[in-house]
Amino acid sequence: MERCSVAQQQLEDIYHRKFYYLRLSVTDVCNFKCTYCLPDGYKPSGRRNSSFLNLPEISRVVKAFADCGTSKVRITGGEPTLRKDFTEIVNVISQTQGIEKVAMTTNGYRMKRQVEDWRQAGLSHINVSVDSLDPRLFHQITGENKFHDVMDGIERAFEVGYEQVKVNVVLMKDLNHHQLPQFLQWIKTRPIQLRFIELMQTGEMNDLFKNHHVSGVAIRNQLIANGWLLKPRGQSDGPAQVFYHPDYLGEIGLIMPYEKDFCETCNRLRVSAMGKLHLCLFGEHGVDLRDLLEDDTQEAQLIERIQHHLQTKKVSHFLHDGNTGMTPHLASIGG
Ligand code: SAM
Ligand code: SF4
Repeated sequence: MERCSVAQQQLEDIYHRKFYYLRLSVTDVCNFKCTYCLPDGYKPSGRRNSSFLNLPEISRVVKAFADCGTSKVRITGGEPTLRKDFTEIVNVISQTQGIEKVAMTTNGYRMKRQVEDWRQAGLSHINVSVDSLDPRLFHQITGENKFHDVMDGIERAFEVGYEQVKVNVVLMKDLNHHQLPQFLQWIKTRPIQLRFIELMQTGEMNDLFKNHHVSGVAIRNQLIANGWLLKPRGQSDGPAQVFYHPDYLGEIGLIMPYEKDFCETCNRLRVSAMGKLHLCLFGEHGVDLRDLLEDDTQEAQLIERIQHHLQTKKVSHFLHDGNTGMTPHLASIGG
């Protein structure tokens, strides 16, 4: 199969946003019960014949995106490391021509034992979720008493050669939003990019959003007042505003989806574990790609379907209007 001509095939929508970054979910399953995501734990959907994309299907979909200019793939879920073939998935993606960065988002549960294998397979970037540095609060938020395992996993990642680890913190009023000083102390001497993500409202969320959503603006103001400086953004970077400070080895990222113009810099598309293309985390059913992933002969049609659907991408997620769309929780299409 020929590589697409760049001029003809680059992924671009009608608002002239270009897409270099694919977020690929490889499973909906998770072993944690985060209050903002799967508070009652993972429940199989009961869909008949439901199975997640297999290795050849993953390889084909990533190749099609890479042939259209995608240079970064993030493997997510659910908890992606629950897949027995996770290391092979990393390997297949990292071997795909054109893919320069292979990232993952994990709850860190398997990191201590497996991160060395992931690195050897070509995993270039790791995001791990740690919502509190207080083990009891960590347990309360995630439903799992695994704080120390996750922290050991982060240390192990440094030992096996990662120069930086990104840590995701979902910002929640009255739970962790007062813990900025503790987090800052932690990253003073560690090359960790700590990313505060504003709590997003999803379809199955009841009062949690109302009770705990807090804007990242207060944190941004505190950082700026204390000499933190905004870093320029790279082509395949995610949506975080990243700040650095000469006295800190670590960095702070802020992800504020409710901020005006958040969607203007959107550069990423999503494929769910069931093989559906999602143009946004919120608001649509997704378009099935699976029938075109059965063998290697259908790449041209696959690209055509992706391109065609991309032209319907909306200008914004409309979260401000209370829209949570079809997304019951982020584990369902990969946060
Ligand atoms: N299981 C992995 C993990 O927790 O890192 C990967 C999947 S998880 C859906 C990806 C990211 O989305 C995590 O950092 C998680 O904290 C975040 N997330 C999940 N639900 C969220 C919500 N309602 N608002 C903001 N962030 C959320
Ligand atoms: Fe699982 Fe990640 Fe959702 Fe937590 S945020 S329940 S670890 S998928």
